[in-house]
Amino acid sequence: MKKLLIANRGEIALRILRTARELGLKTVVVHSEADAESLPVLLADEAICIGPASPAQSYLNIPNILSAAIVSGADAIHPGYGFLAENAAFAEMVRDHGITFVGPTPENMRLLGDKATARRIAREAGVPVVPGTDELKSVEEAKEAARAIGYPVILKASAGGGGRGMRLVHTEEDLERAVLQAQEEARAAFGNPAVYIEKYIEEPKHVEVQVLGDGQKVLHLYERDCSIQRRHQKLLEEAPSLLPREVRDGLLKSAVRLAEHVGYVSAGTLEFLVDREGNYYFIEMNTRIQVEHPVTEMVTGLDLIRLQLEVAAGEPLRMSQEDIELKGHAIEVRVNAEDPDKDFRPSIGQIETLLWPGGPGVRVDSHLYQGYAIPPHYDSLLAKIIAWDTDRERTIRRLRRALSETALEGKGLKTTIPFHKKVLDNAFFRRGAVYTNFVARRMSG
Ligand code: ADP
Repeated sequence: MKKLLIANRGEIALRILRTARELGLKTVVVHSEADAESLPVLLADEAICIGPASPAQSYLNIPNILSAAIVSGADAIHPGYGFLAENAAFAEMVRDHGITFVGPTPENMRLLGDKATARRIAREAGVPVVPGTDELKSVEEAKEAARAIGYPVILKASAGGGGRGMRLVHTEEDLERAVLQAQEEARAAFGNPAVYIEKYIEEPKHVEVQVLGDGQKVLHLYERDCSIQRRHQKLLEEAPSLLPREVRDGLLKSAVRLAEHVGYVSAGTLEFLVDREGNYYFIEMNTRIQVEHPVTEMVTGLDLIRLQLEVAAGEPLRMSQEDIELKGHAIEVRVNAEDPDKDFRPSIGQIETLLWPGGPGVRVDSHLYQGYAIPPHYDSLLAKIIAWDTDRERTIRRLRRALSETALEGKGLKTTIPFHKKVLDNAFFRRGAVYTNFVARRMSG
């Protein structure tokens, strides 16, 4: 591997570029017209414009991205997260052009990308899933299943993701309409109308396991708790979780077993819900690097992008499970261009004042710079601020300190930083009483 094309934008493009450079790889960053002045573009060895601002015409434009790889002579493509990262057809086309795709195989993605299929595979591997159904074939089947499971139930799109395509149903009267609406929404949003049912778990924790495979073996890099969410979108993530030891051990073993079952290659994340009794249930696998990977890097000291690149280059994982040690505690907050006082409405602007925090145990992953105009076409993530310290209490204090010295301002720009300060000050959060409804129950008003 000599030249890496980065098929993404924003903070993750910069994150990948940094590791690629440390490994001595040349970098090609592809970008939309709206991102011509972005930091990854300015820092890349080569930058190629692949289309207009709209993602469909640029970051999702497979022919243009492949052409850019061929023209620049790139021998590998890293897709980052979002956009084409979990698109098996893209991974296959990259491979068919003799270019290395930095990620799982198209076969891995096909098995695990569809959420209903992934549930089936988890059951095969002996991993517990939330009580529920396969893809629904009729409303009658939905009614019978929901009766057997007990209300409330949640309807989910098989092809769903990013917290979209989910619908809570409390009673049988609402079910028929909900199924039809969910199918219609799934068709419109994901091009696939398939939906399935899961039991709605009350006040669960969202805990996910980071795995890494090389085709021969699968290792875990422990877990992250991502329970602090809003509308099923993660806002703050931490590692390790606060689960009792037996629950945690079971979860880690289950995750490795499931990834081994499909011969998983590269970095991936298995997501679980954990109920109040400590029962855990697999919900889905993300076959890519995730936004929250830095917390795992902080507690393990490993560079996940480097490991992805090494595995993609055909190198076997040289470490064993015992070599991967977890030290201390890390917490990440997502700084989004959203107004927490106005129901997290997206906010845009030009960065006028920018001062990042520093000091021991503080990391900032961000593509922002003074004068940068935030384009309105993409997701609202501006930065991730991550703190590490020897235990959770100290990490909270360190992150609180880091946020208090951060200055990120621009005309009309609102960010989620004030919200995160409130979370870190919240007594329930400090006690570790986190679950996915935390923001709605403990942070409103
Ligand atoms: P997506 O792929 O859209 O991210 P997930 O299946 O990963 O969807 O679920 C996202 C979030 O939705 C979870 O972290 C949790 O907060 C909530 N959720 C999903 N399934 C259930 C369930 N069966 N019961 C309760 N909450 C759920």
